[in-house]
Amino acid sequence: MRALVEEAPGAVRDLIARGVVFDLDHEGRLALGLEGGHTYRRIVHAGGSQTGYELTSKLAKWVDAEGRVEVKERTSAVALWSDGERCHGVITDAGAIAAPATILATGGAAALWRRTTNPRGAIGAGPVLASLAGADLADLEFCQFHPTALALPGTDHDGVLITEAIRGEGAKLLGADGERFTDELAPRDAVTAAILEKMRSEGTAAVDLDLREIDPARFPNVFASLARAGLNPGSHPVPVAPAAHYTMGGIAVDVDGRSSLPGLYAVGECSCTGLHGANRLASNSLSECFVFGGRAAAAAIEEEAVGTKPEPPQWRFEPPSDETRDAVWRYAGPMRNPDDLARLISNPYPLARAIGASALDRAESRGGHLRRDRPDTDPALDGIHVVVHPDGSVTEEEWH
Ligand SMILES: Cc1cc2nc3c(=O)[nH]c(=O)nc-3n(C[C@H](O)[C@H](O)[C@H](O)COP(=O)(O)OP(=O)(O)OC[C@H]3O[C@@H](n4cnc5c(N)ncnc54)[C@H](O)[C@@H]3O)c2cc1C
Repeated sequence: MRALVEEAPGAVRDLIARGVVFDLDHEGRLALGLEGGHTYRRIVHAGGSQTGYELTSKLAKWVDAEGRVEVKERTSAVALWSDGERCHGVITDAGAIAAPATILATGGAAALWRRTTNPRGAIGAGPVLASLAGADLADLEFCQFHPTALALPGTDHDGVLITEAIRGEGAKLLGADGERFTDELAPRDAVTAAILEKMRSEGTAAVDLDLREIDPARFPNVFASLARAGLNPGSHPVPVAPAAHYTMGGIAVDVDGRSSLPGLYAVGECSCTGLHGANRLASNSLSECFVFGGRAAAAAIEEEAVGTKPEPPQWRFEPPSDETRDAVWRYAGPMRNPDDLARLISNPYPLARAIGASALDRAESRGGHLRRDRPDTDPALDGIHVVVHPDGSVTEEEWH
């Protein structure tokens, strides 16, 4: 946490030096935003809500111009070159790459839950590869659910996130009877629980979000997405339901991105630094990517090739089936119970098994999920990380 707080301003300055343009206030200083749960204005944006696009497009251009980086487009990592003692590189679908240090940056796993705000490829490939190569995973039971994702099953628009800022401006959640049923500005987990309870009691697959009093000019991206989905929020409320949004857990790493497997590093949402606790605060994730990404690169460059390389493994990554995604949503969603979680233990997808084992081990409610059999938070588990080892065993650890 200290590393992030101390180094994030430098990471922003570095991005500016590399050509990323952030929004400025009328005095020409960085316009700092306040987001959910924040005490101080500290979030930079680019082009309003185009921050991700500005960052990735500028950095892609920068990498392209940097002659020392070889980019392999449309190539997937399908295994790690490991003997369980050390990582010697990566196996891709275009061949093996030997390296003294390998850094995984494969993103999160929230698309392992059937309802998700994430792109379909966010299935936790990194943690699966790392675990099978011999690295520990941690905090897998912690998934953040967003209460208001568009509910249009079977279409490309299903899961589109509708920002909570719009509820802050007066959007109302309505049941099938057209009545409000919850405080729209309560924390994400409370709003999620209220929506799921309403859906259960009404036997519906969504509730309505009434945007009729919202000025489209305040949220142009949201209104453009809804128009693309064929919805007219000016005349009809739009259907929304909770969806998996962010995975706090991943490959257990230290402050330099080092995993428990020598030679293997992980950064970004596929890693677990412990920074996000049980429920990430808005926008801490991109800061984490830049601060810990830089630290991991600096540490990895110091690694030297060690020992004899083993034969490349024969095992290859297999993506999860739709049945697995259904099962993870149904059994490890925002509302959980031990019998359901136990059903994940025999799932064919290794990360689904590890999520089930971690969520079973944490016998309490914390962060984004509620265990119906243990509705309270257990103070004895404060600061405890549930770690899944490569052999599938689970331990509880305190990290310092
Ligand atoms: C709708 C939405 C809004 C968000 N808003 C915010 C926000 O406002 N602020 C914030 O801080 N965070 C936000 N987040 C979270 C943030 O975007 C992510 O945590 C962050 O982008 C993760 O970055 P990453 O580099 O770790 O992974 P990603 O950006 O997901 O990149 C991972 C890359 O790895 C590739 N990959 C995956 N598996 C393999 C493989 N086996 N081989 C090769 N390549 C592979 C993927 O295709 C992808 O290109 C949001 C997320 C969503 C979904």
